[in-house]
Amino acid sequence: MTLHINNGLIQDSYLGEVPILQRIVTSQGSANNVRTHLPLEGPIGVTIHNTGNSAPSADALAHASWLANVEAEDSLYVGAHFFVDAQRIVQTLPLNEISWHAGDGMGKGNAATISIEICETSPYERCEANAMALAAALMETYQLNDLYTHEMWSGKYCPRLILVREGGWQGFVEGVARIRAAETMPPMAAPVLDNTPSPWAQEAVDWALANRFLVGDDTGNLRLHAAPTREELVAILHRITKERG
Ligand SMILES: [Zn+2]
Repeated sequence: MTLHINNGLIQDSYLGEVPILQRIVTSQGSANNVRTHLPLEGPIGVTIHNTGNSAPSADALAHASWLANVEAEDSLYVGAHFFVDAQRIVQTLPLNEISWHAGDGMGKGNAATISIEICETSPYERCEANAMALAAALMETYQLNDLYTHEMWSGKYCPRLILVREGGWQGFVEGVARIRAAETMPPMAAPVLDNTPSPWAQEAVDWALANRFLVGDDTGNLRLHAAPTREELVAILHRITKERG
């Protein structure tokens, strides 16, 4: 699905079933250390991280509070547009503003990609699934094709829990592509089954089904009210004759 974004802020309250919360860091102090107020170029893609904090309490809301404190203290130059855990997506910086996440200074990682920090809280699979859904929605919204790891920009081993798995990054990229493909495919029409006999035919249909003289097609449709072709008719007669020996 595409997101509604106004002034860099997501207007939607949910992505599918997952709540999207706004915890935009308020500018404080003199240093532009979290709130950079620098315009993001593009964006050209989305960069994926793990928070690197496996404490059970280190969820997306805790990280949003932590980031607000970092801004207040004017010391660390760090930031991310999103923190995602198993229950929620939290936006912490406007999407039209550079965040310090990629370790490449004013390179393309920081200057031109949206940053998603995946929390390492439990159940971790949900954290990653929610991040995949968010990445897919952002890429769909901005019409992007490129996903990046932190490692690609500056060599840091991040997102560590994805990179450590054999084929982990490839799997993540494919998961995002699958979500996007599923959403752009027209929904399949539910098959209409014609399996309810008229009252007068009920006994005969039950008999034919019980003896497997009448069988449905491969969707389970008996097509009870459709006229048989001549070959369908003889196939039924043939089954009955064989049964009778
Ligand atoms: Zn990282």
